[in-house]
Amino acid sequence: MKIFITKRIPQKGIDLLKSAGHDITIHDSPNPLSERELIKACQQADYVLNGGMQKFDAFFFQNCSNLKALSLMSVGYDNVDISAATAQGIPVSNTPGILSGATADVAFLLMLSVSRKAFFNHKRILQGEWKGFDPTAHLGVELNNKTLGIYGLGRIGFELARKAKAAYNMDIIYYNRGRNRDAEQILGAQYVNFDELLTRSDVISLHAALTPETKNRFDKNSFARMKNAAILVNTARGGLVNELDLTEALQTGQLWGAGLDVTDPEPMDPKNPLLTMENVCVLPHIGSATVETRDNMALMAANNILAAIKGEKMPQIINNEVYP
Ligand code: NAP
Repeated sequence: MKIFITKRIPQKGIDLLKSAGHDITIHDSPNPLSERELIKACQQADYVLNGGMQKFDAFFFQNCSNLKALSLMSVGYDNVDISAATAQGIPVSNTPGILSGATADVAFLLMLSVSRKAFFNHKRILQGEWKGFDPTAHLGVELNNKTLGIYGLGRIGFELARKAKAAYNMDIIYYNRGRNRDAEQILGAQYVNFDELLTRSDVISLHAALTPETKNRFDKNSFARMKNAAILVNTARGGLVNELDLTEALQTGQLWGAGLDVTDPEPMDPKNPLLTMENVCVLPHIGSATVETRDNMALMAANNILAAIKGEKMPQIINNEVYP
């Protein structure tokens, strides 16, 4: 079978597909494919493994109805028009679960880095501004016994809550559309409404998928309800946050700090004012970027394709309704 991989993925995933005797083509470039290039490459393939952040919209699926399956090497699928894939009968899979620990680590890293102004203090050394010990300069805040509010307590949110409770005995509150009984029983997490999440949290960490409902959910109205001493952490998708409103809230002291692994757009403009602010830490979307996790994601994505080739249901299917 002809398999097109949209970006170089860890070798373990490629080897698995090759060892099954398939014909692999890889778009081996740091630059994403244009829409035309993507369609052209996919029209010549039977299966596609998406290793990057390519967009697969209705136009794509109308032009690539030849595809037998699309396997995403990510848990998020806001870049894919799932109903358009389903309309063409194309199964789409993702890689849930195996990246939760690594992504929660980055949320934890950002929470702690913002609380101690770590990135800013590092920049001070580079700029020759470290003159000696100063008892009052650039002080951080501590996380012990504070309240962590999670917007979207699913797999990754649970891992962050577990770490925050173990490390700092943080109280966990959360807002989802439905209850997460495991988090309530295992971590003592408390379900609250959205406004309570905003007003009670010392740190709010975002873990919901990007959907029309969550887009721009954190805007000036939300920031106005949050504590002035609060920290916002986003490792979900940049689109959940209105970045201009966030910048203003940080500039005016309405919020204490922010840690972002995801931005809107990506990549972030290097001149973005958020990058030079004292209480802001930004990372370039590295949530799942460990050797172990990326190997596992590549293997899971490859196994989804191998299952599809065998005529089996993809184990991590998103649009189950494509199967009779
Ligand atoms: P998940 O297990 O599905 O958890 C998402 C949670 O969000 C669910 O508990 C869901 O609960 C809640 N939710 C969905 N819509 C909501 C809404 N409108 N309002 C409030 N809560 C809502 O997903 P996950 O595996 O934890 O991944 C979460 C997201 O993280 C992904 O979608 C992806 O975008 C992002 N991610 C980023 C990175 C990175 O590199 N930074 C890595 C992996 C994943 P209900 O259904 O009950 O509402």
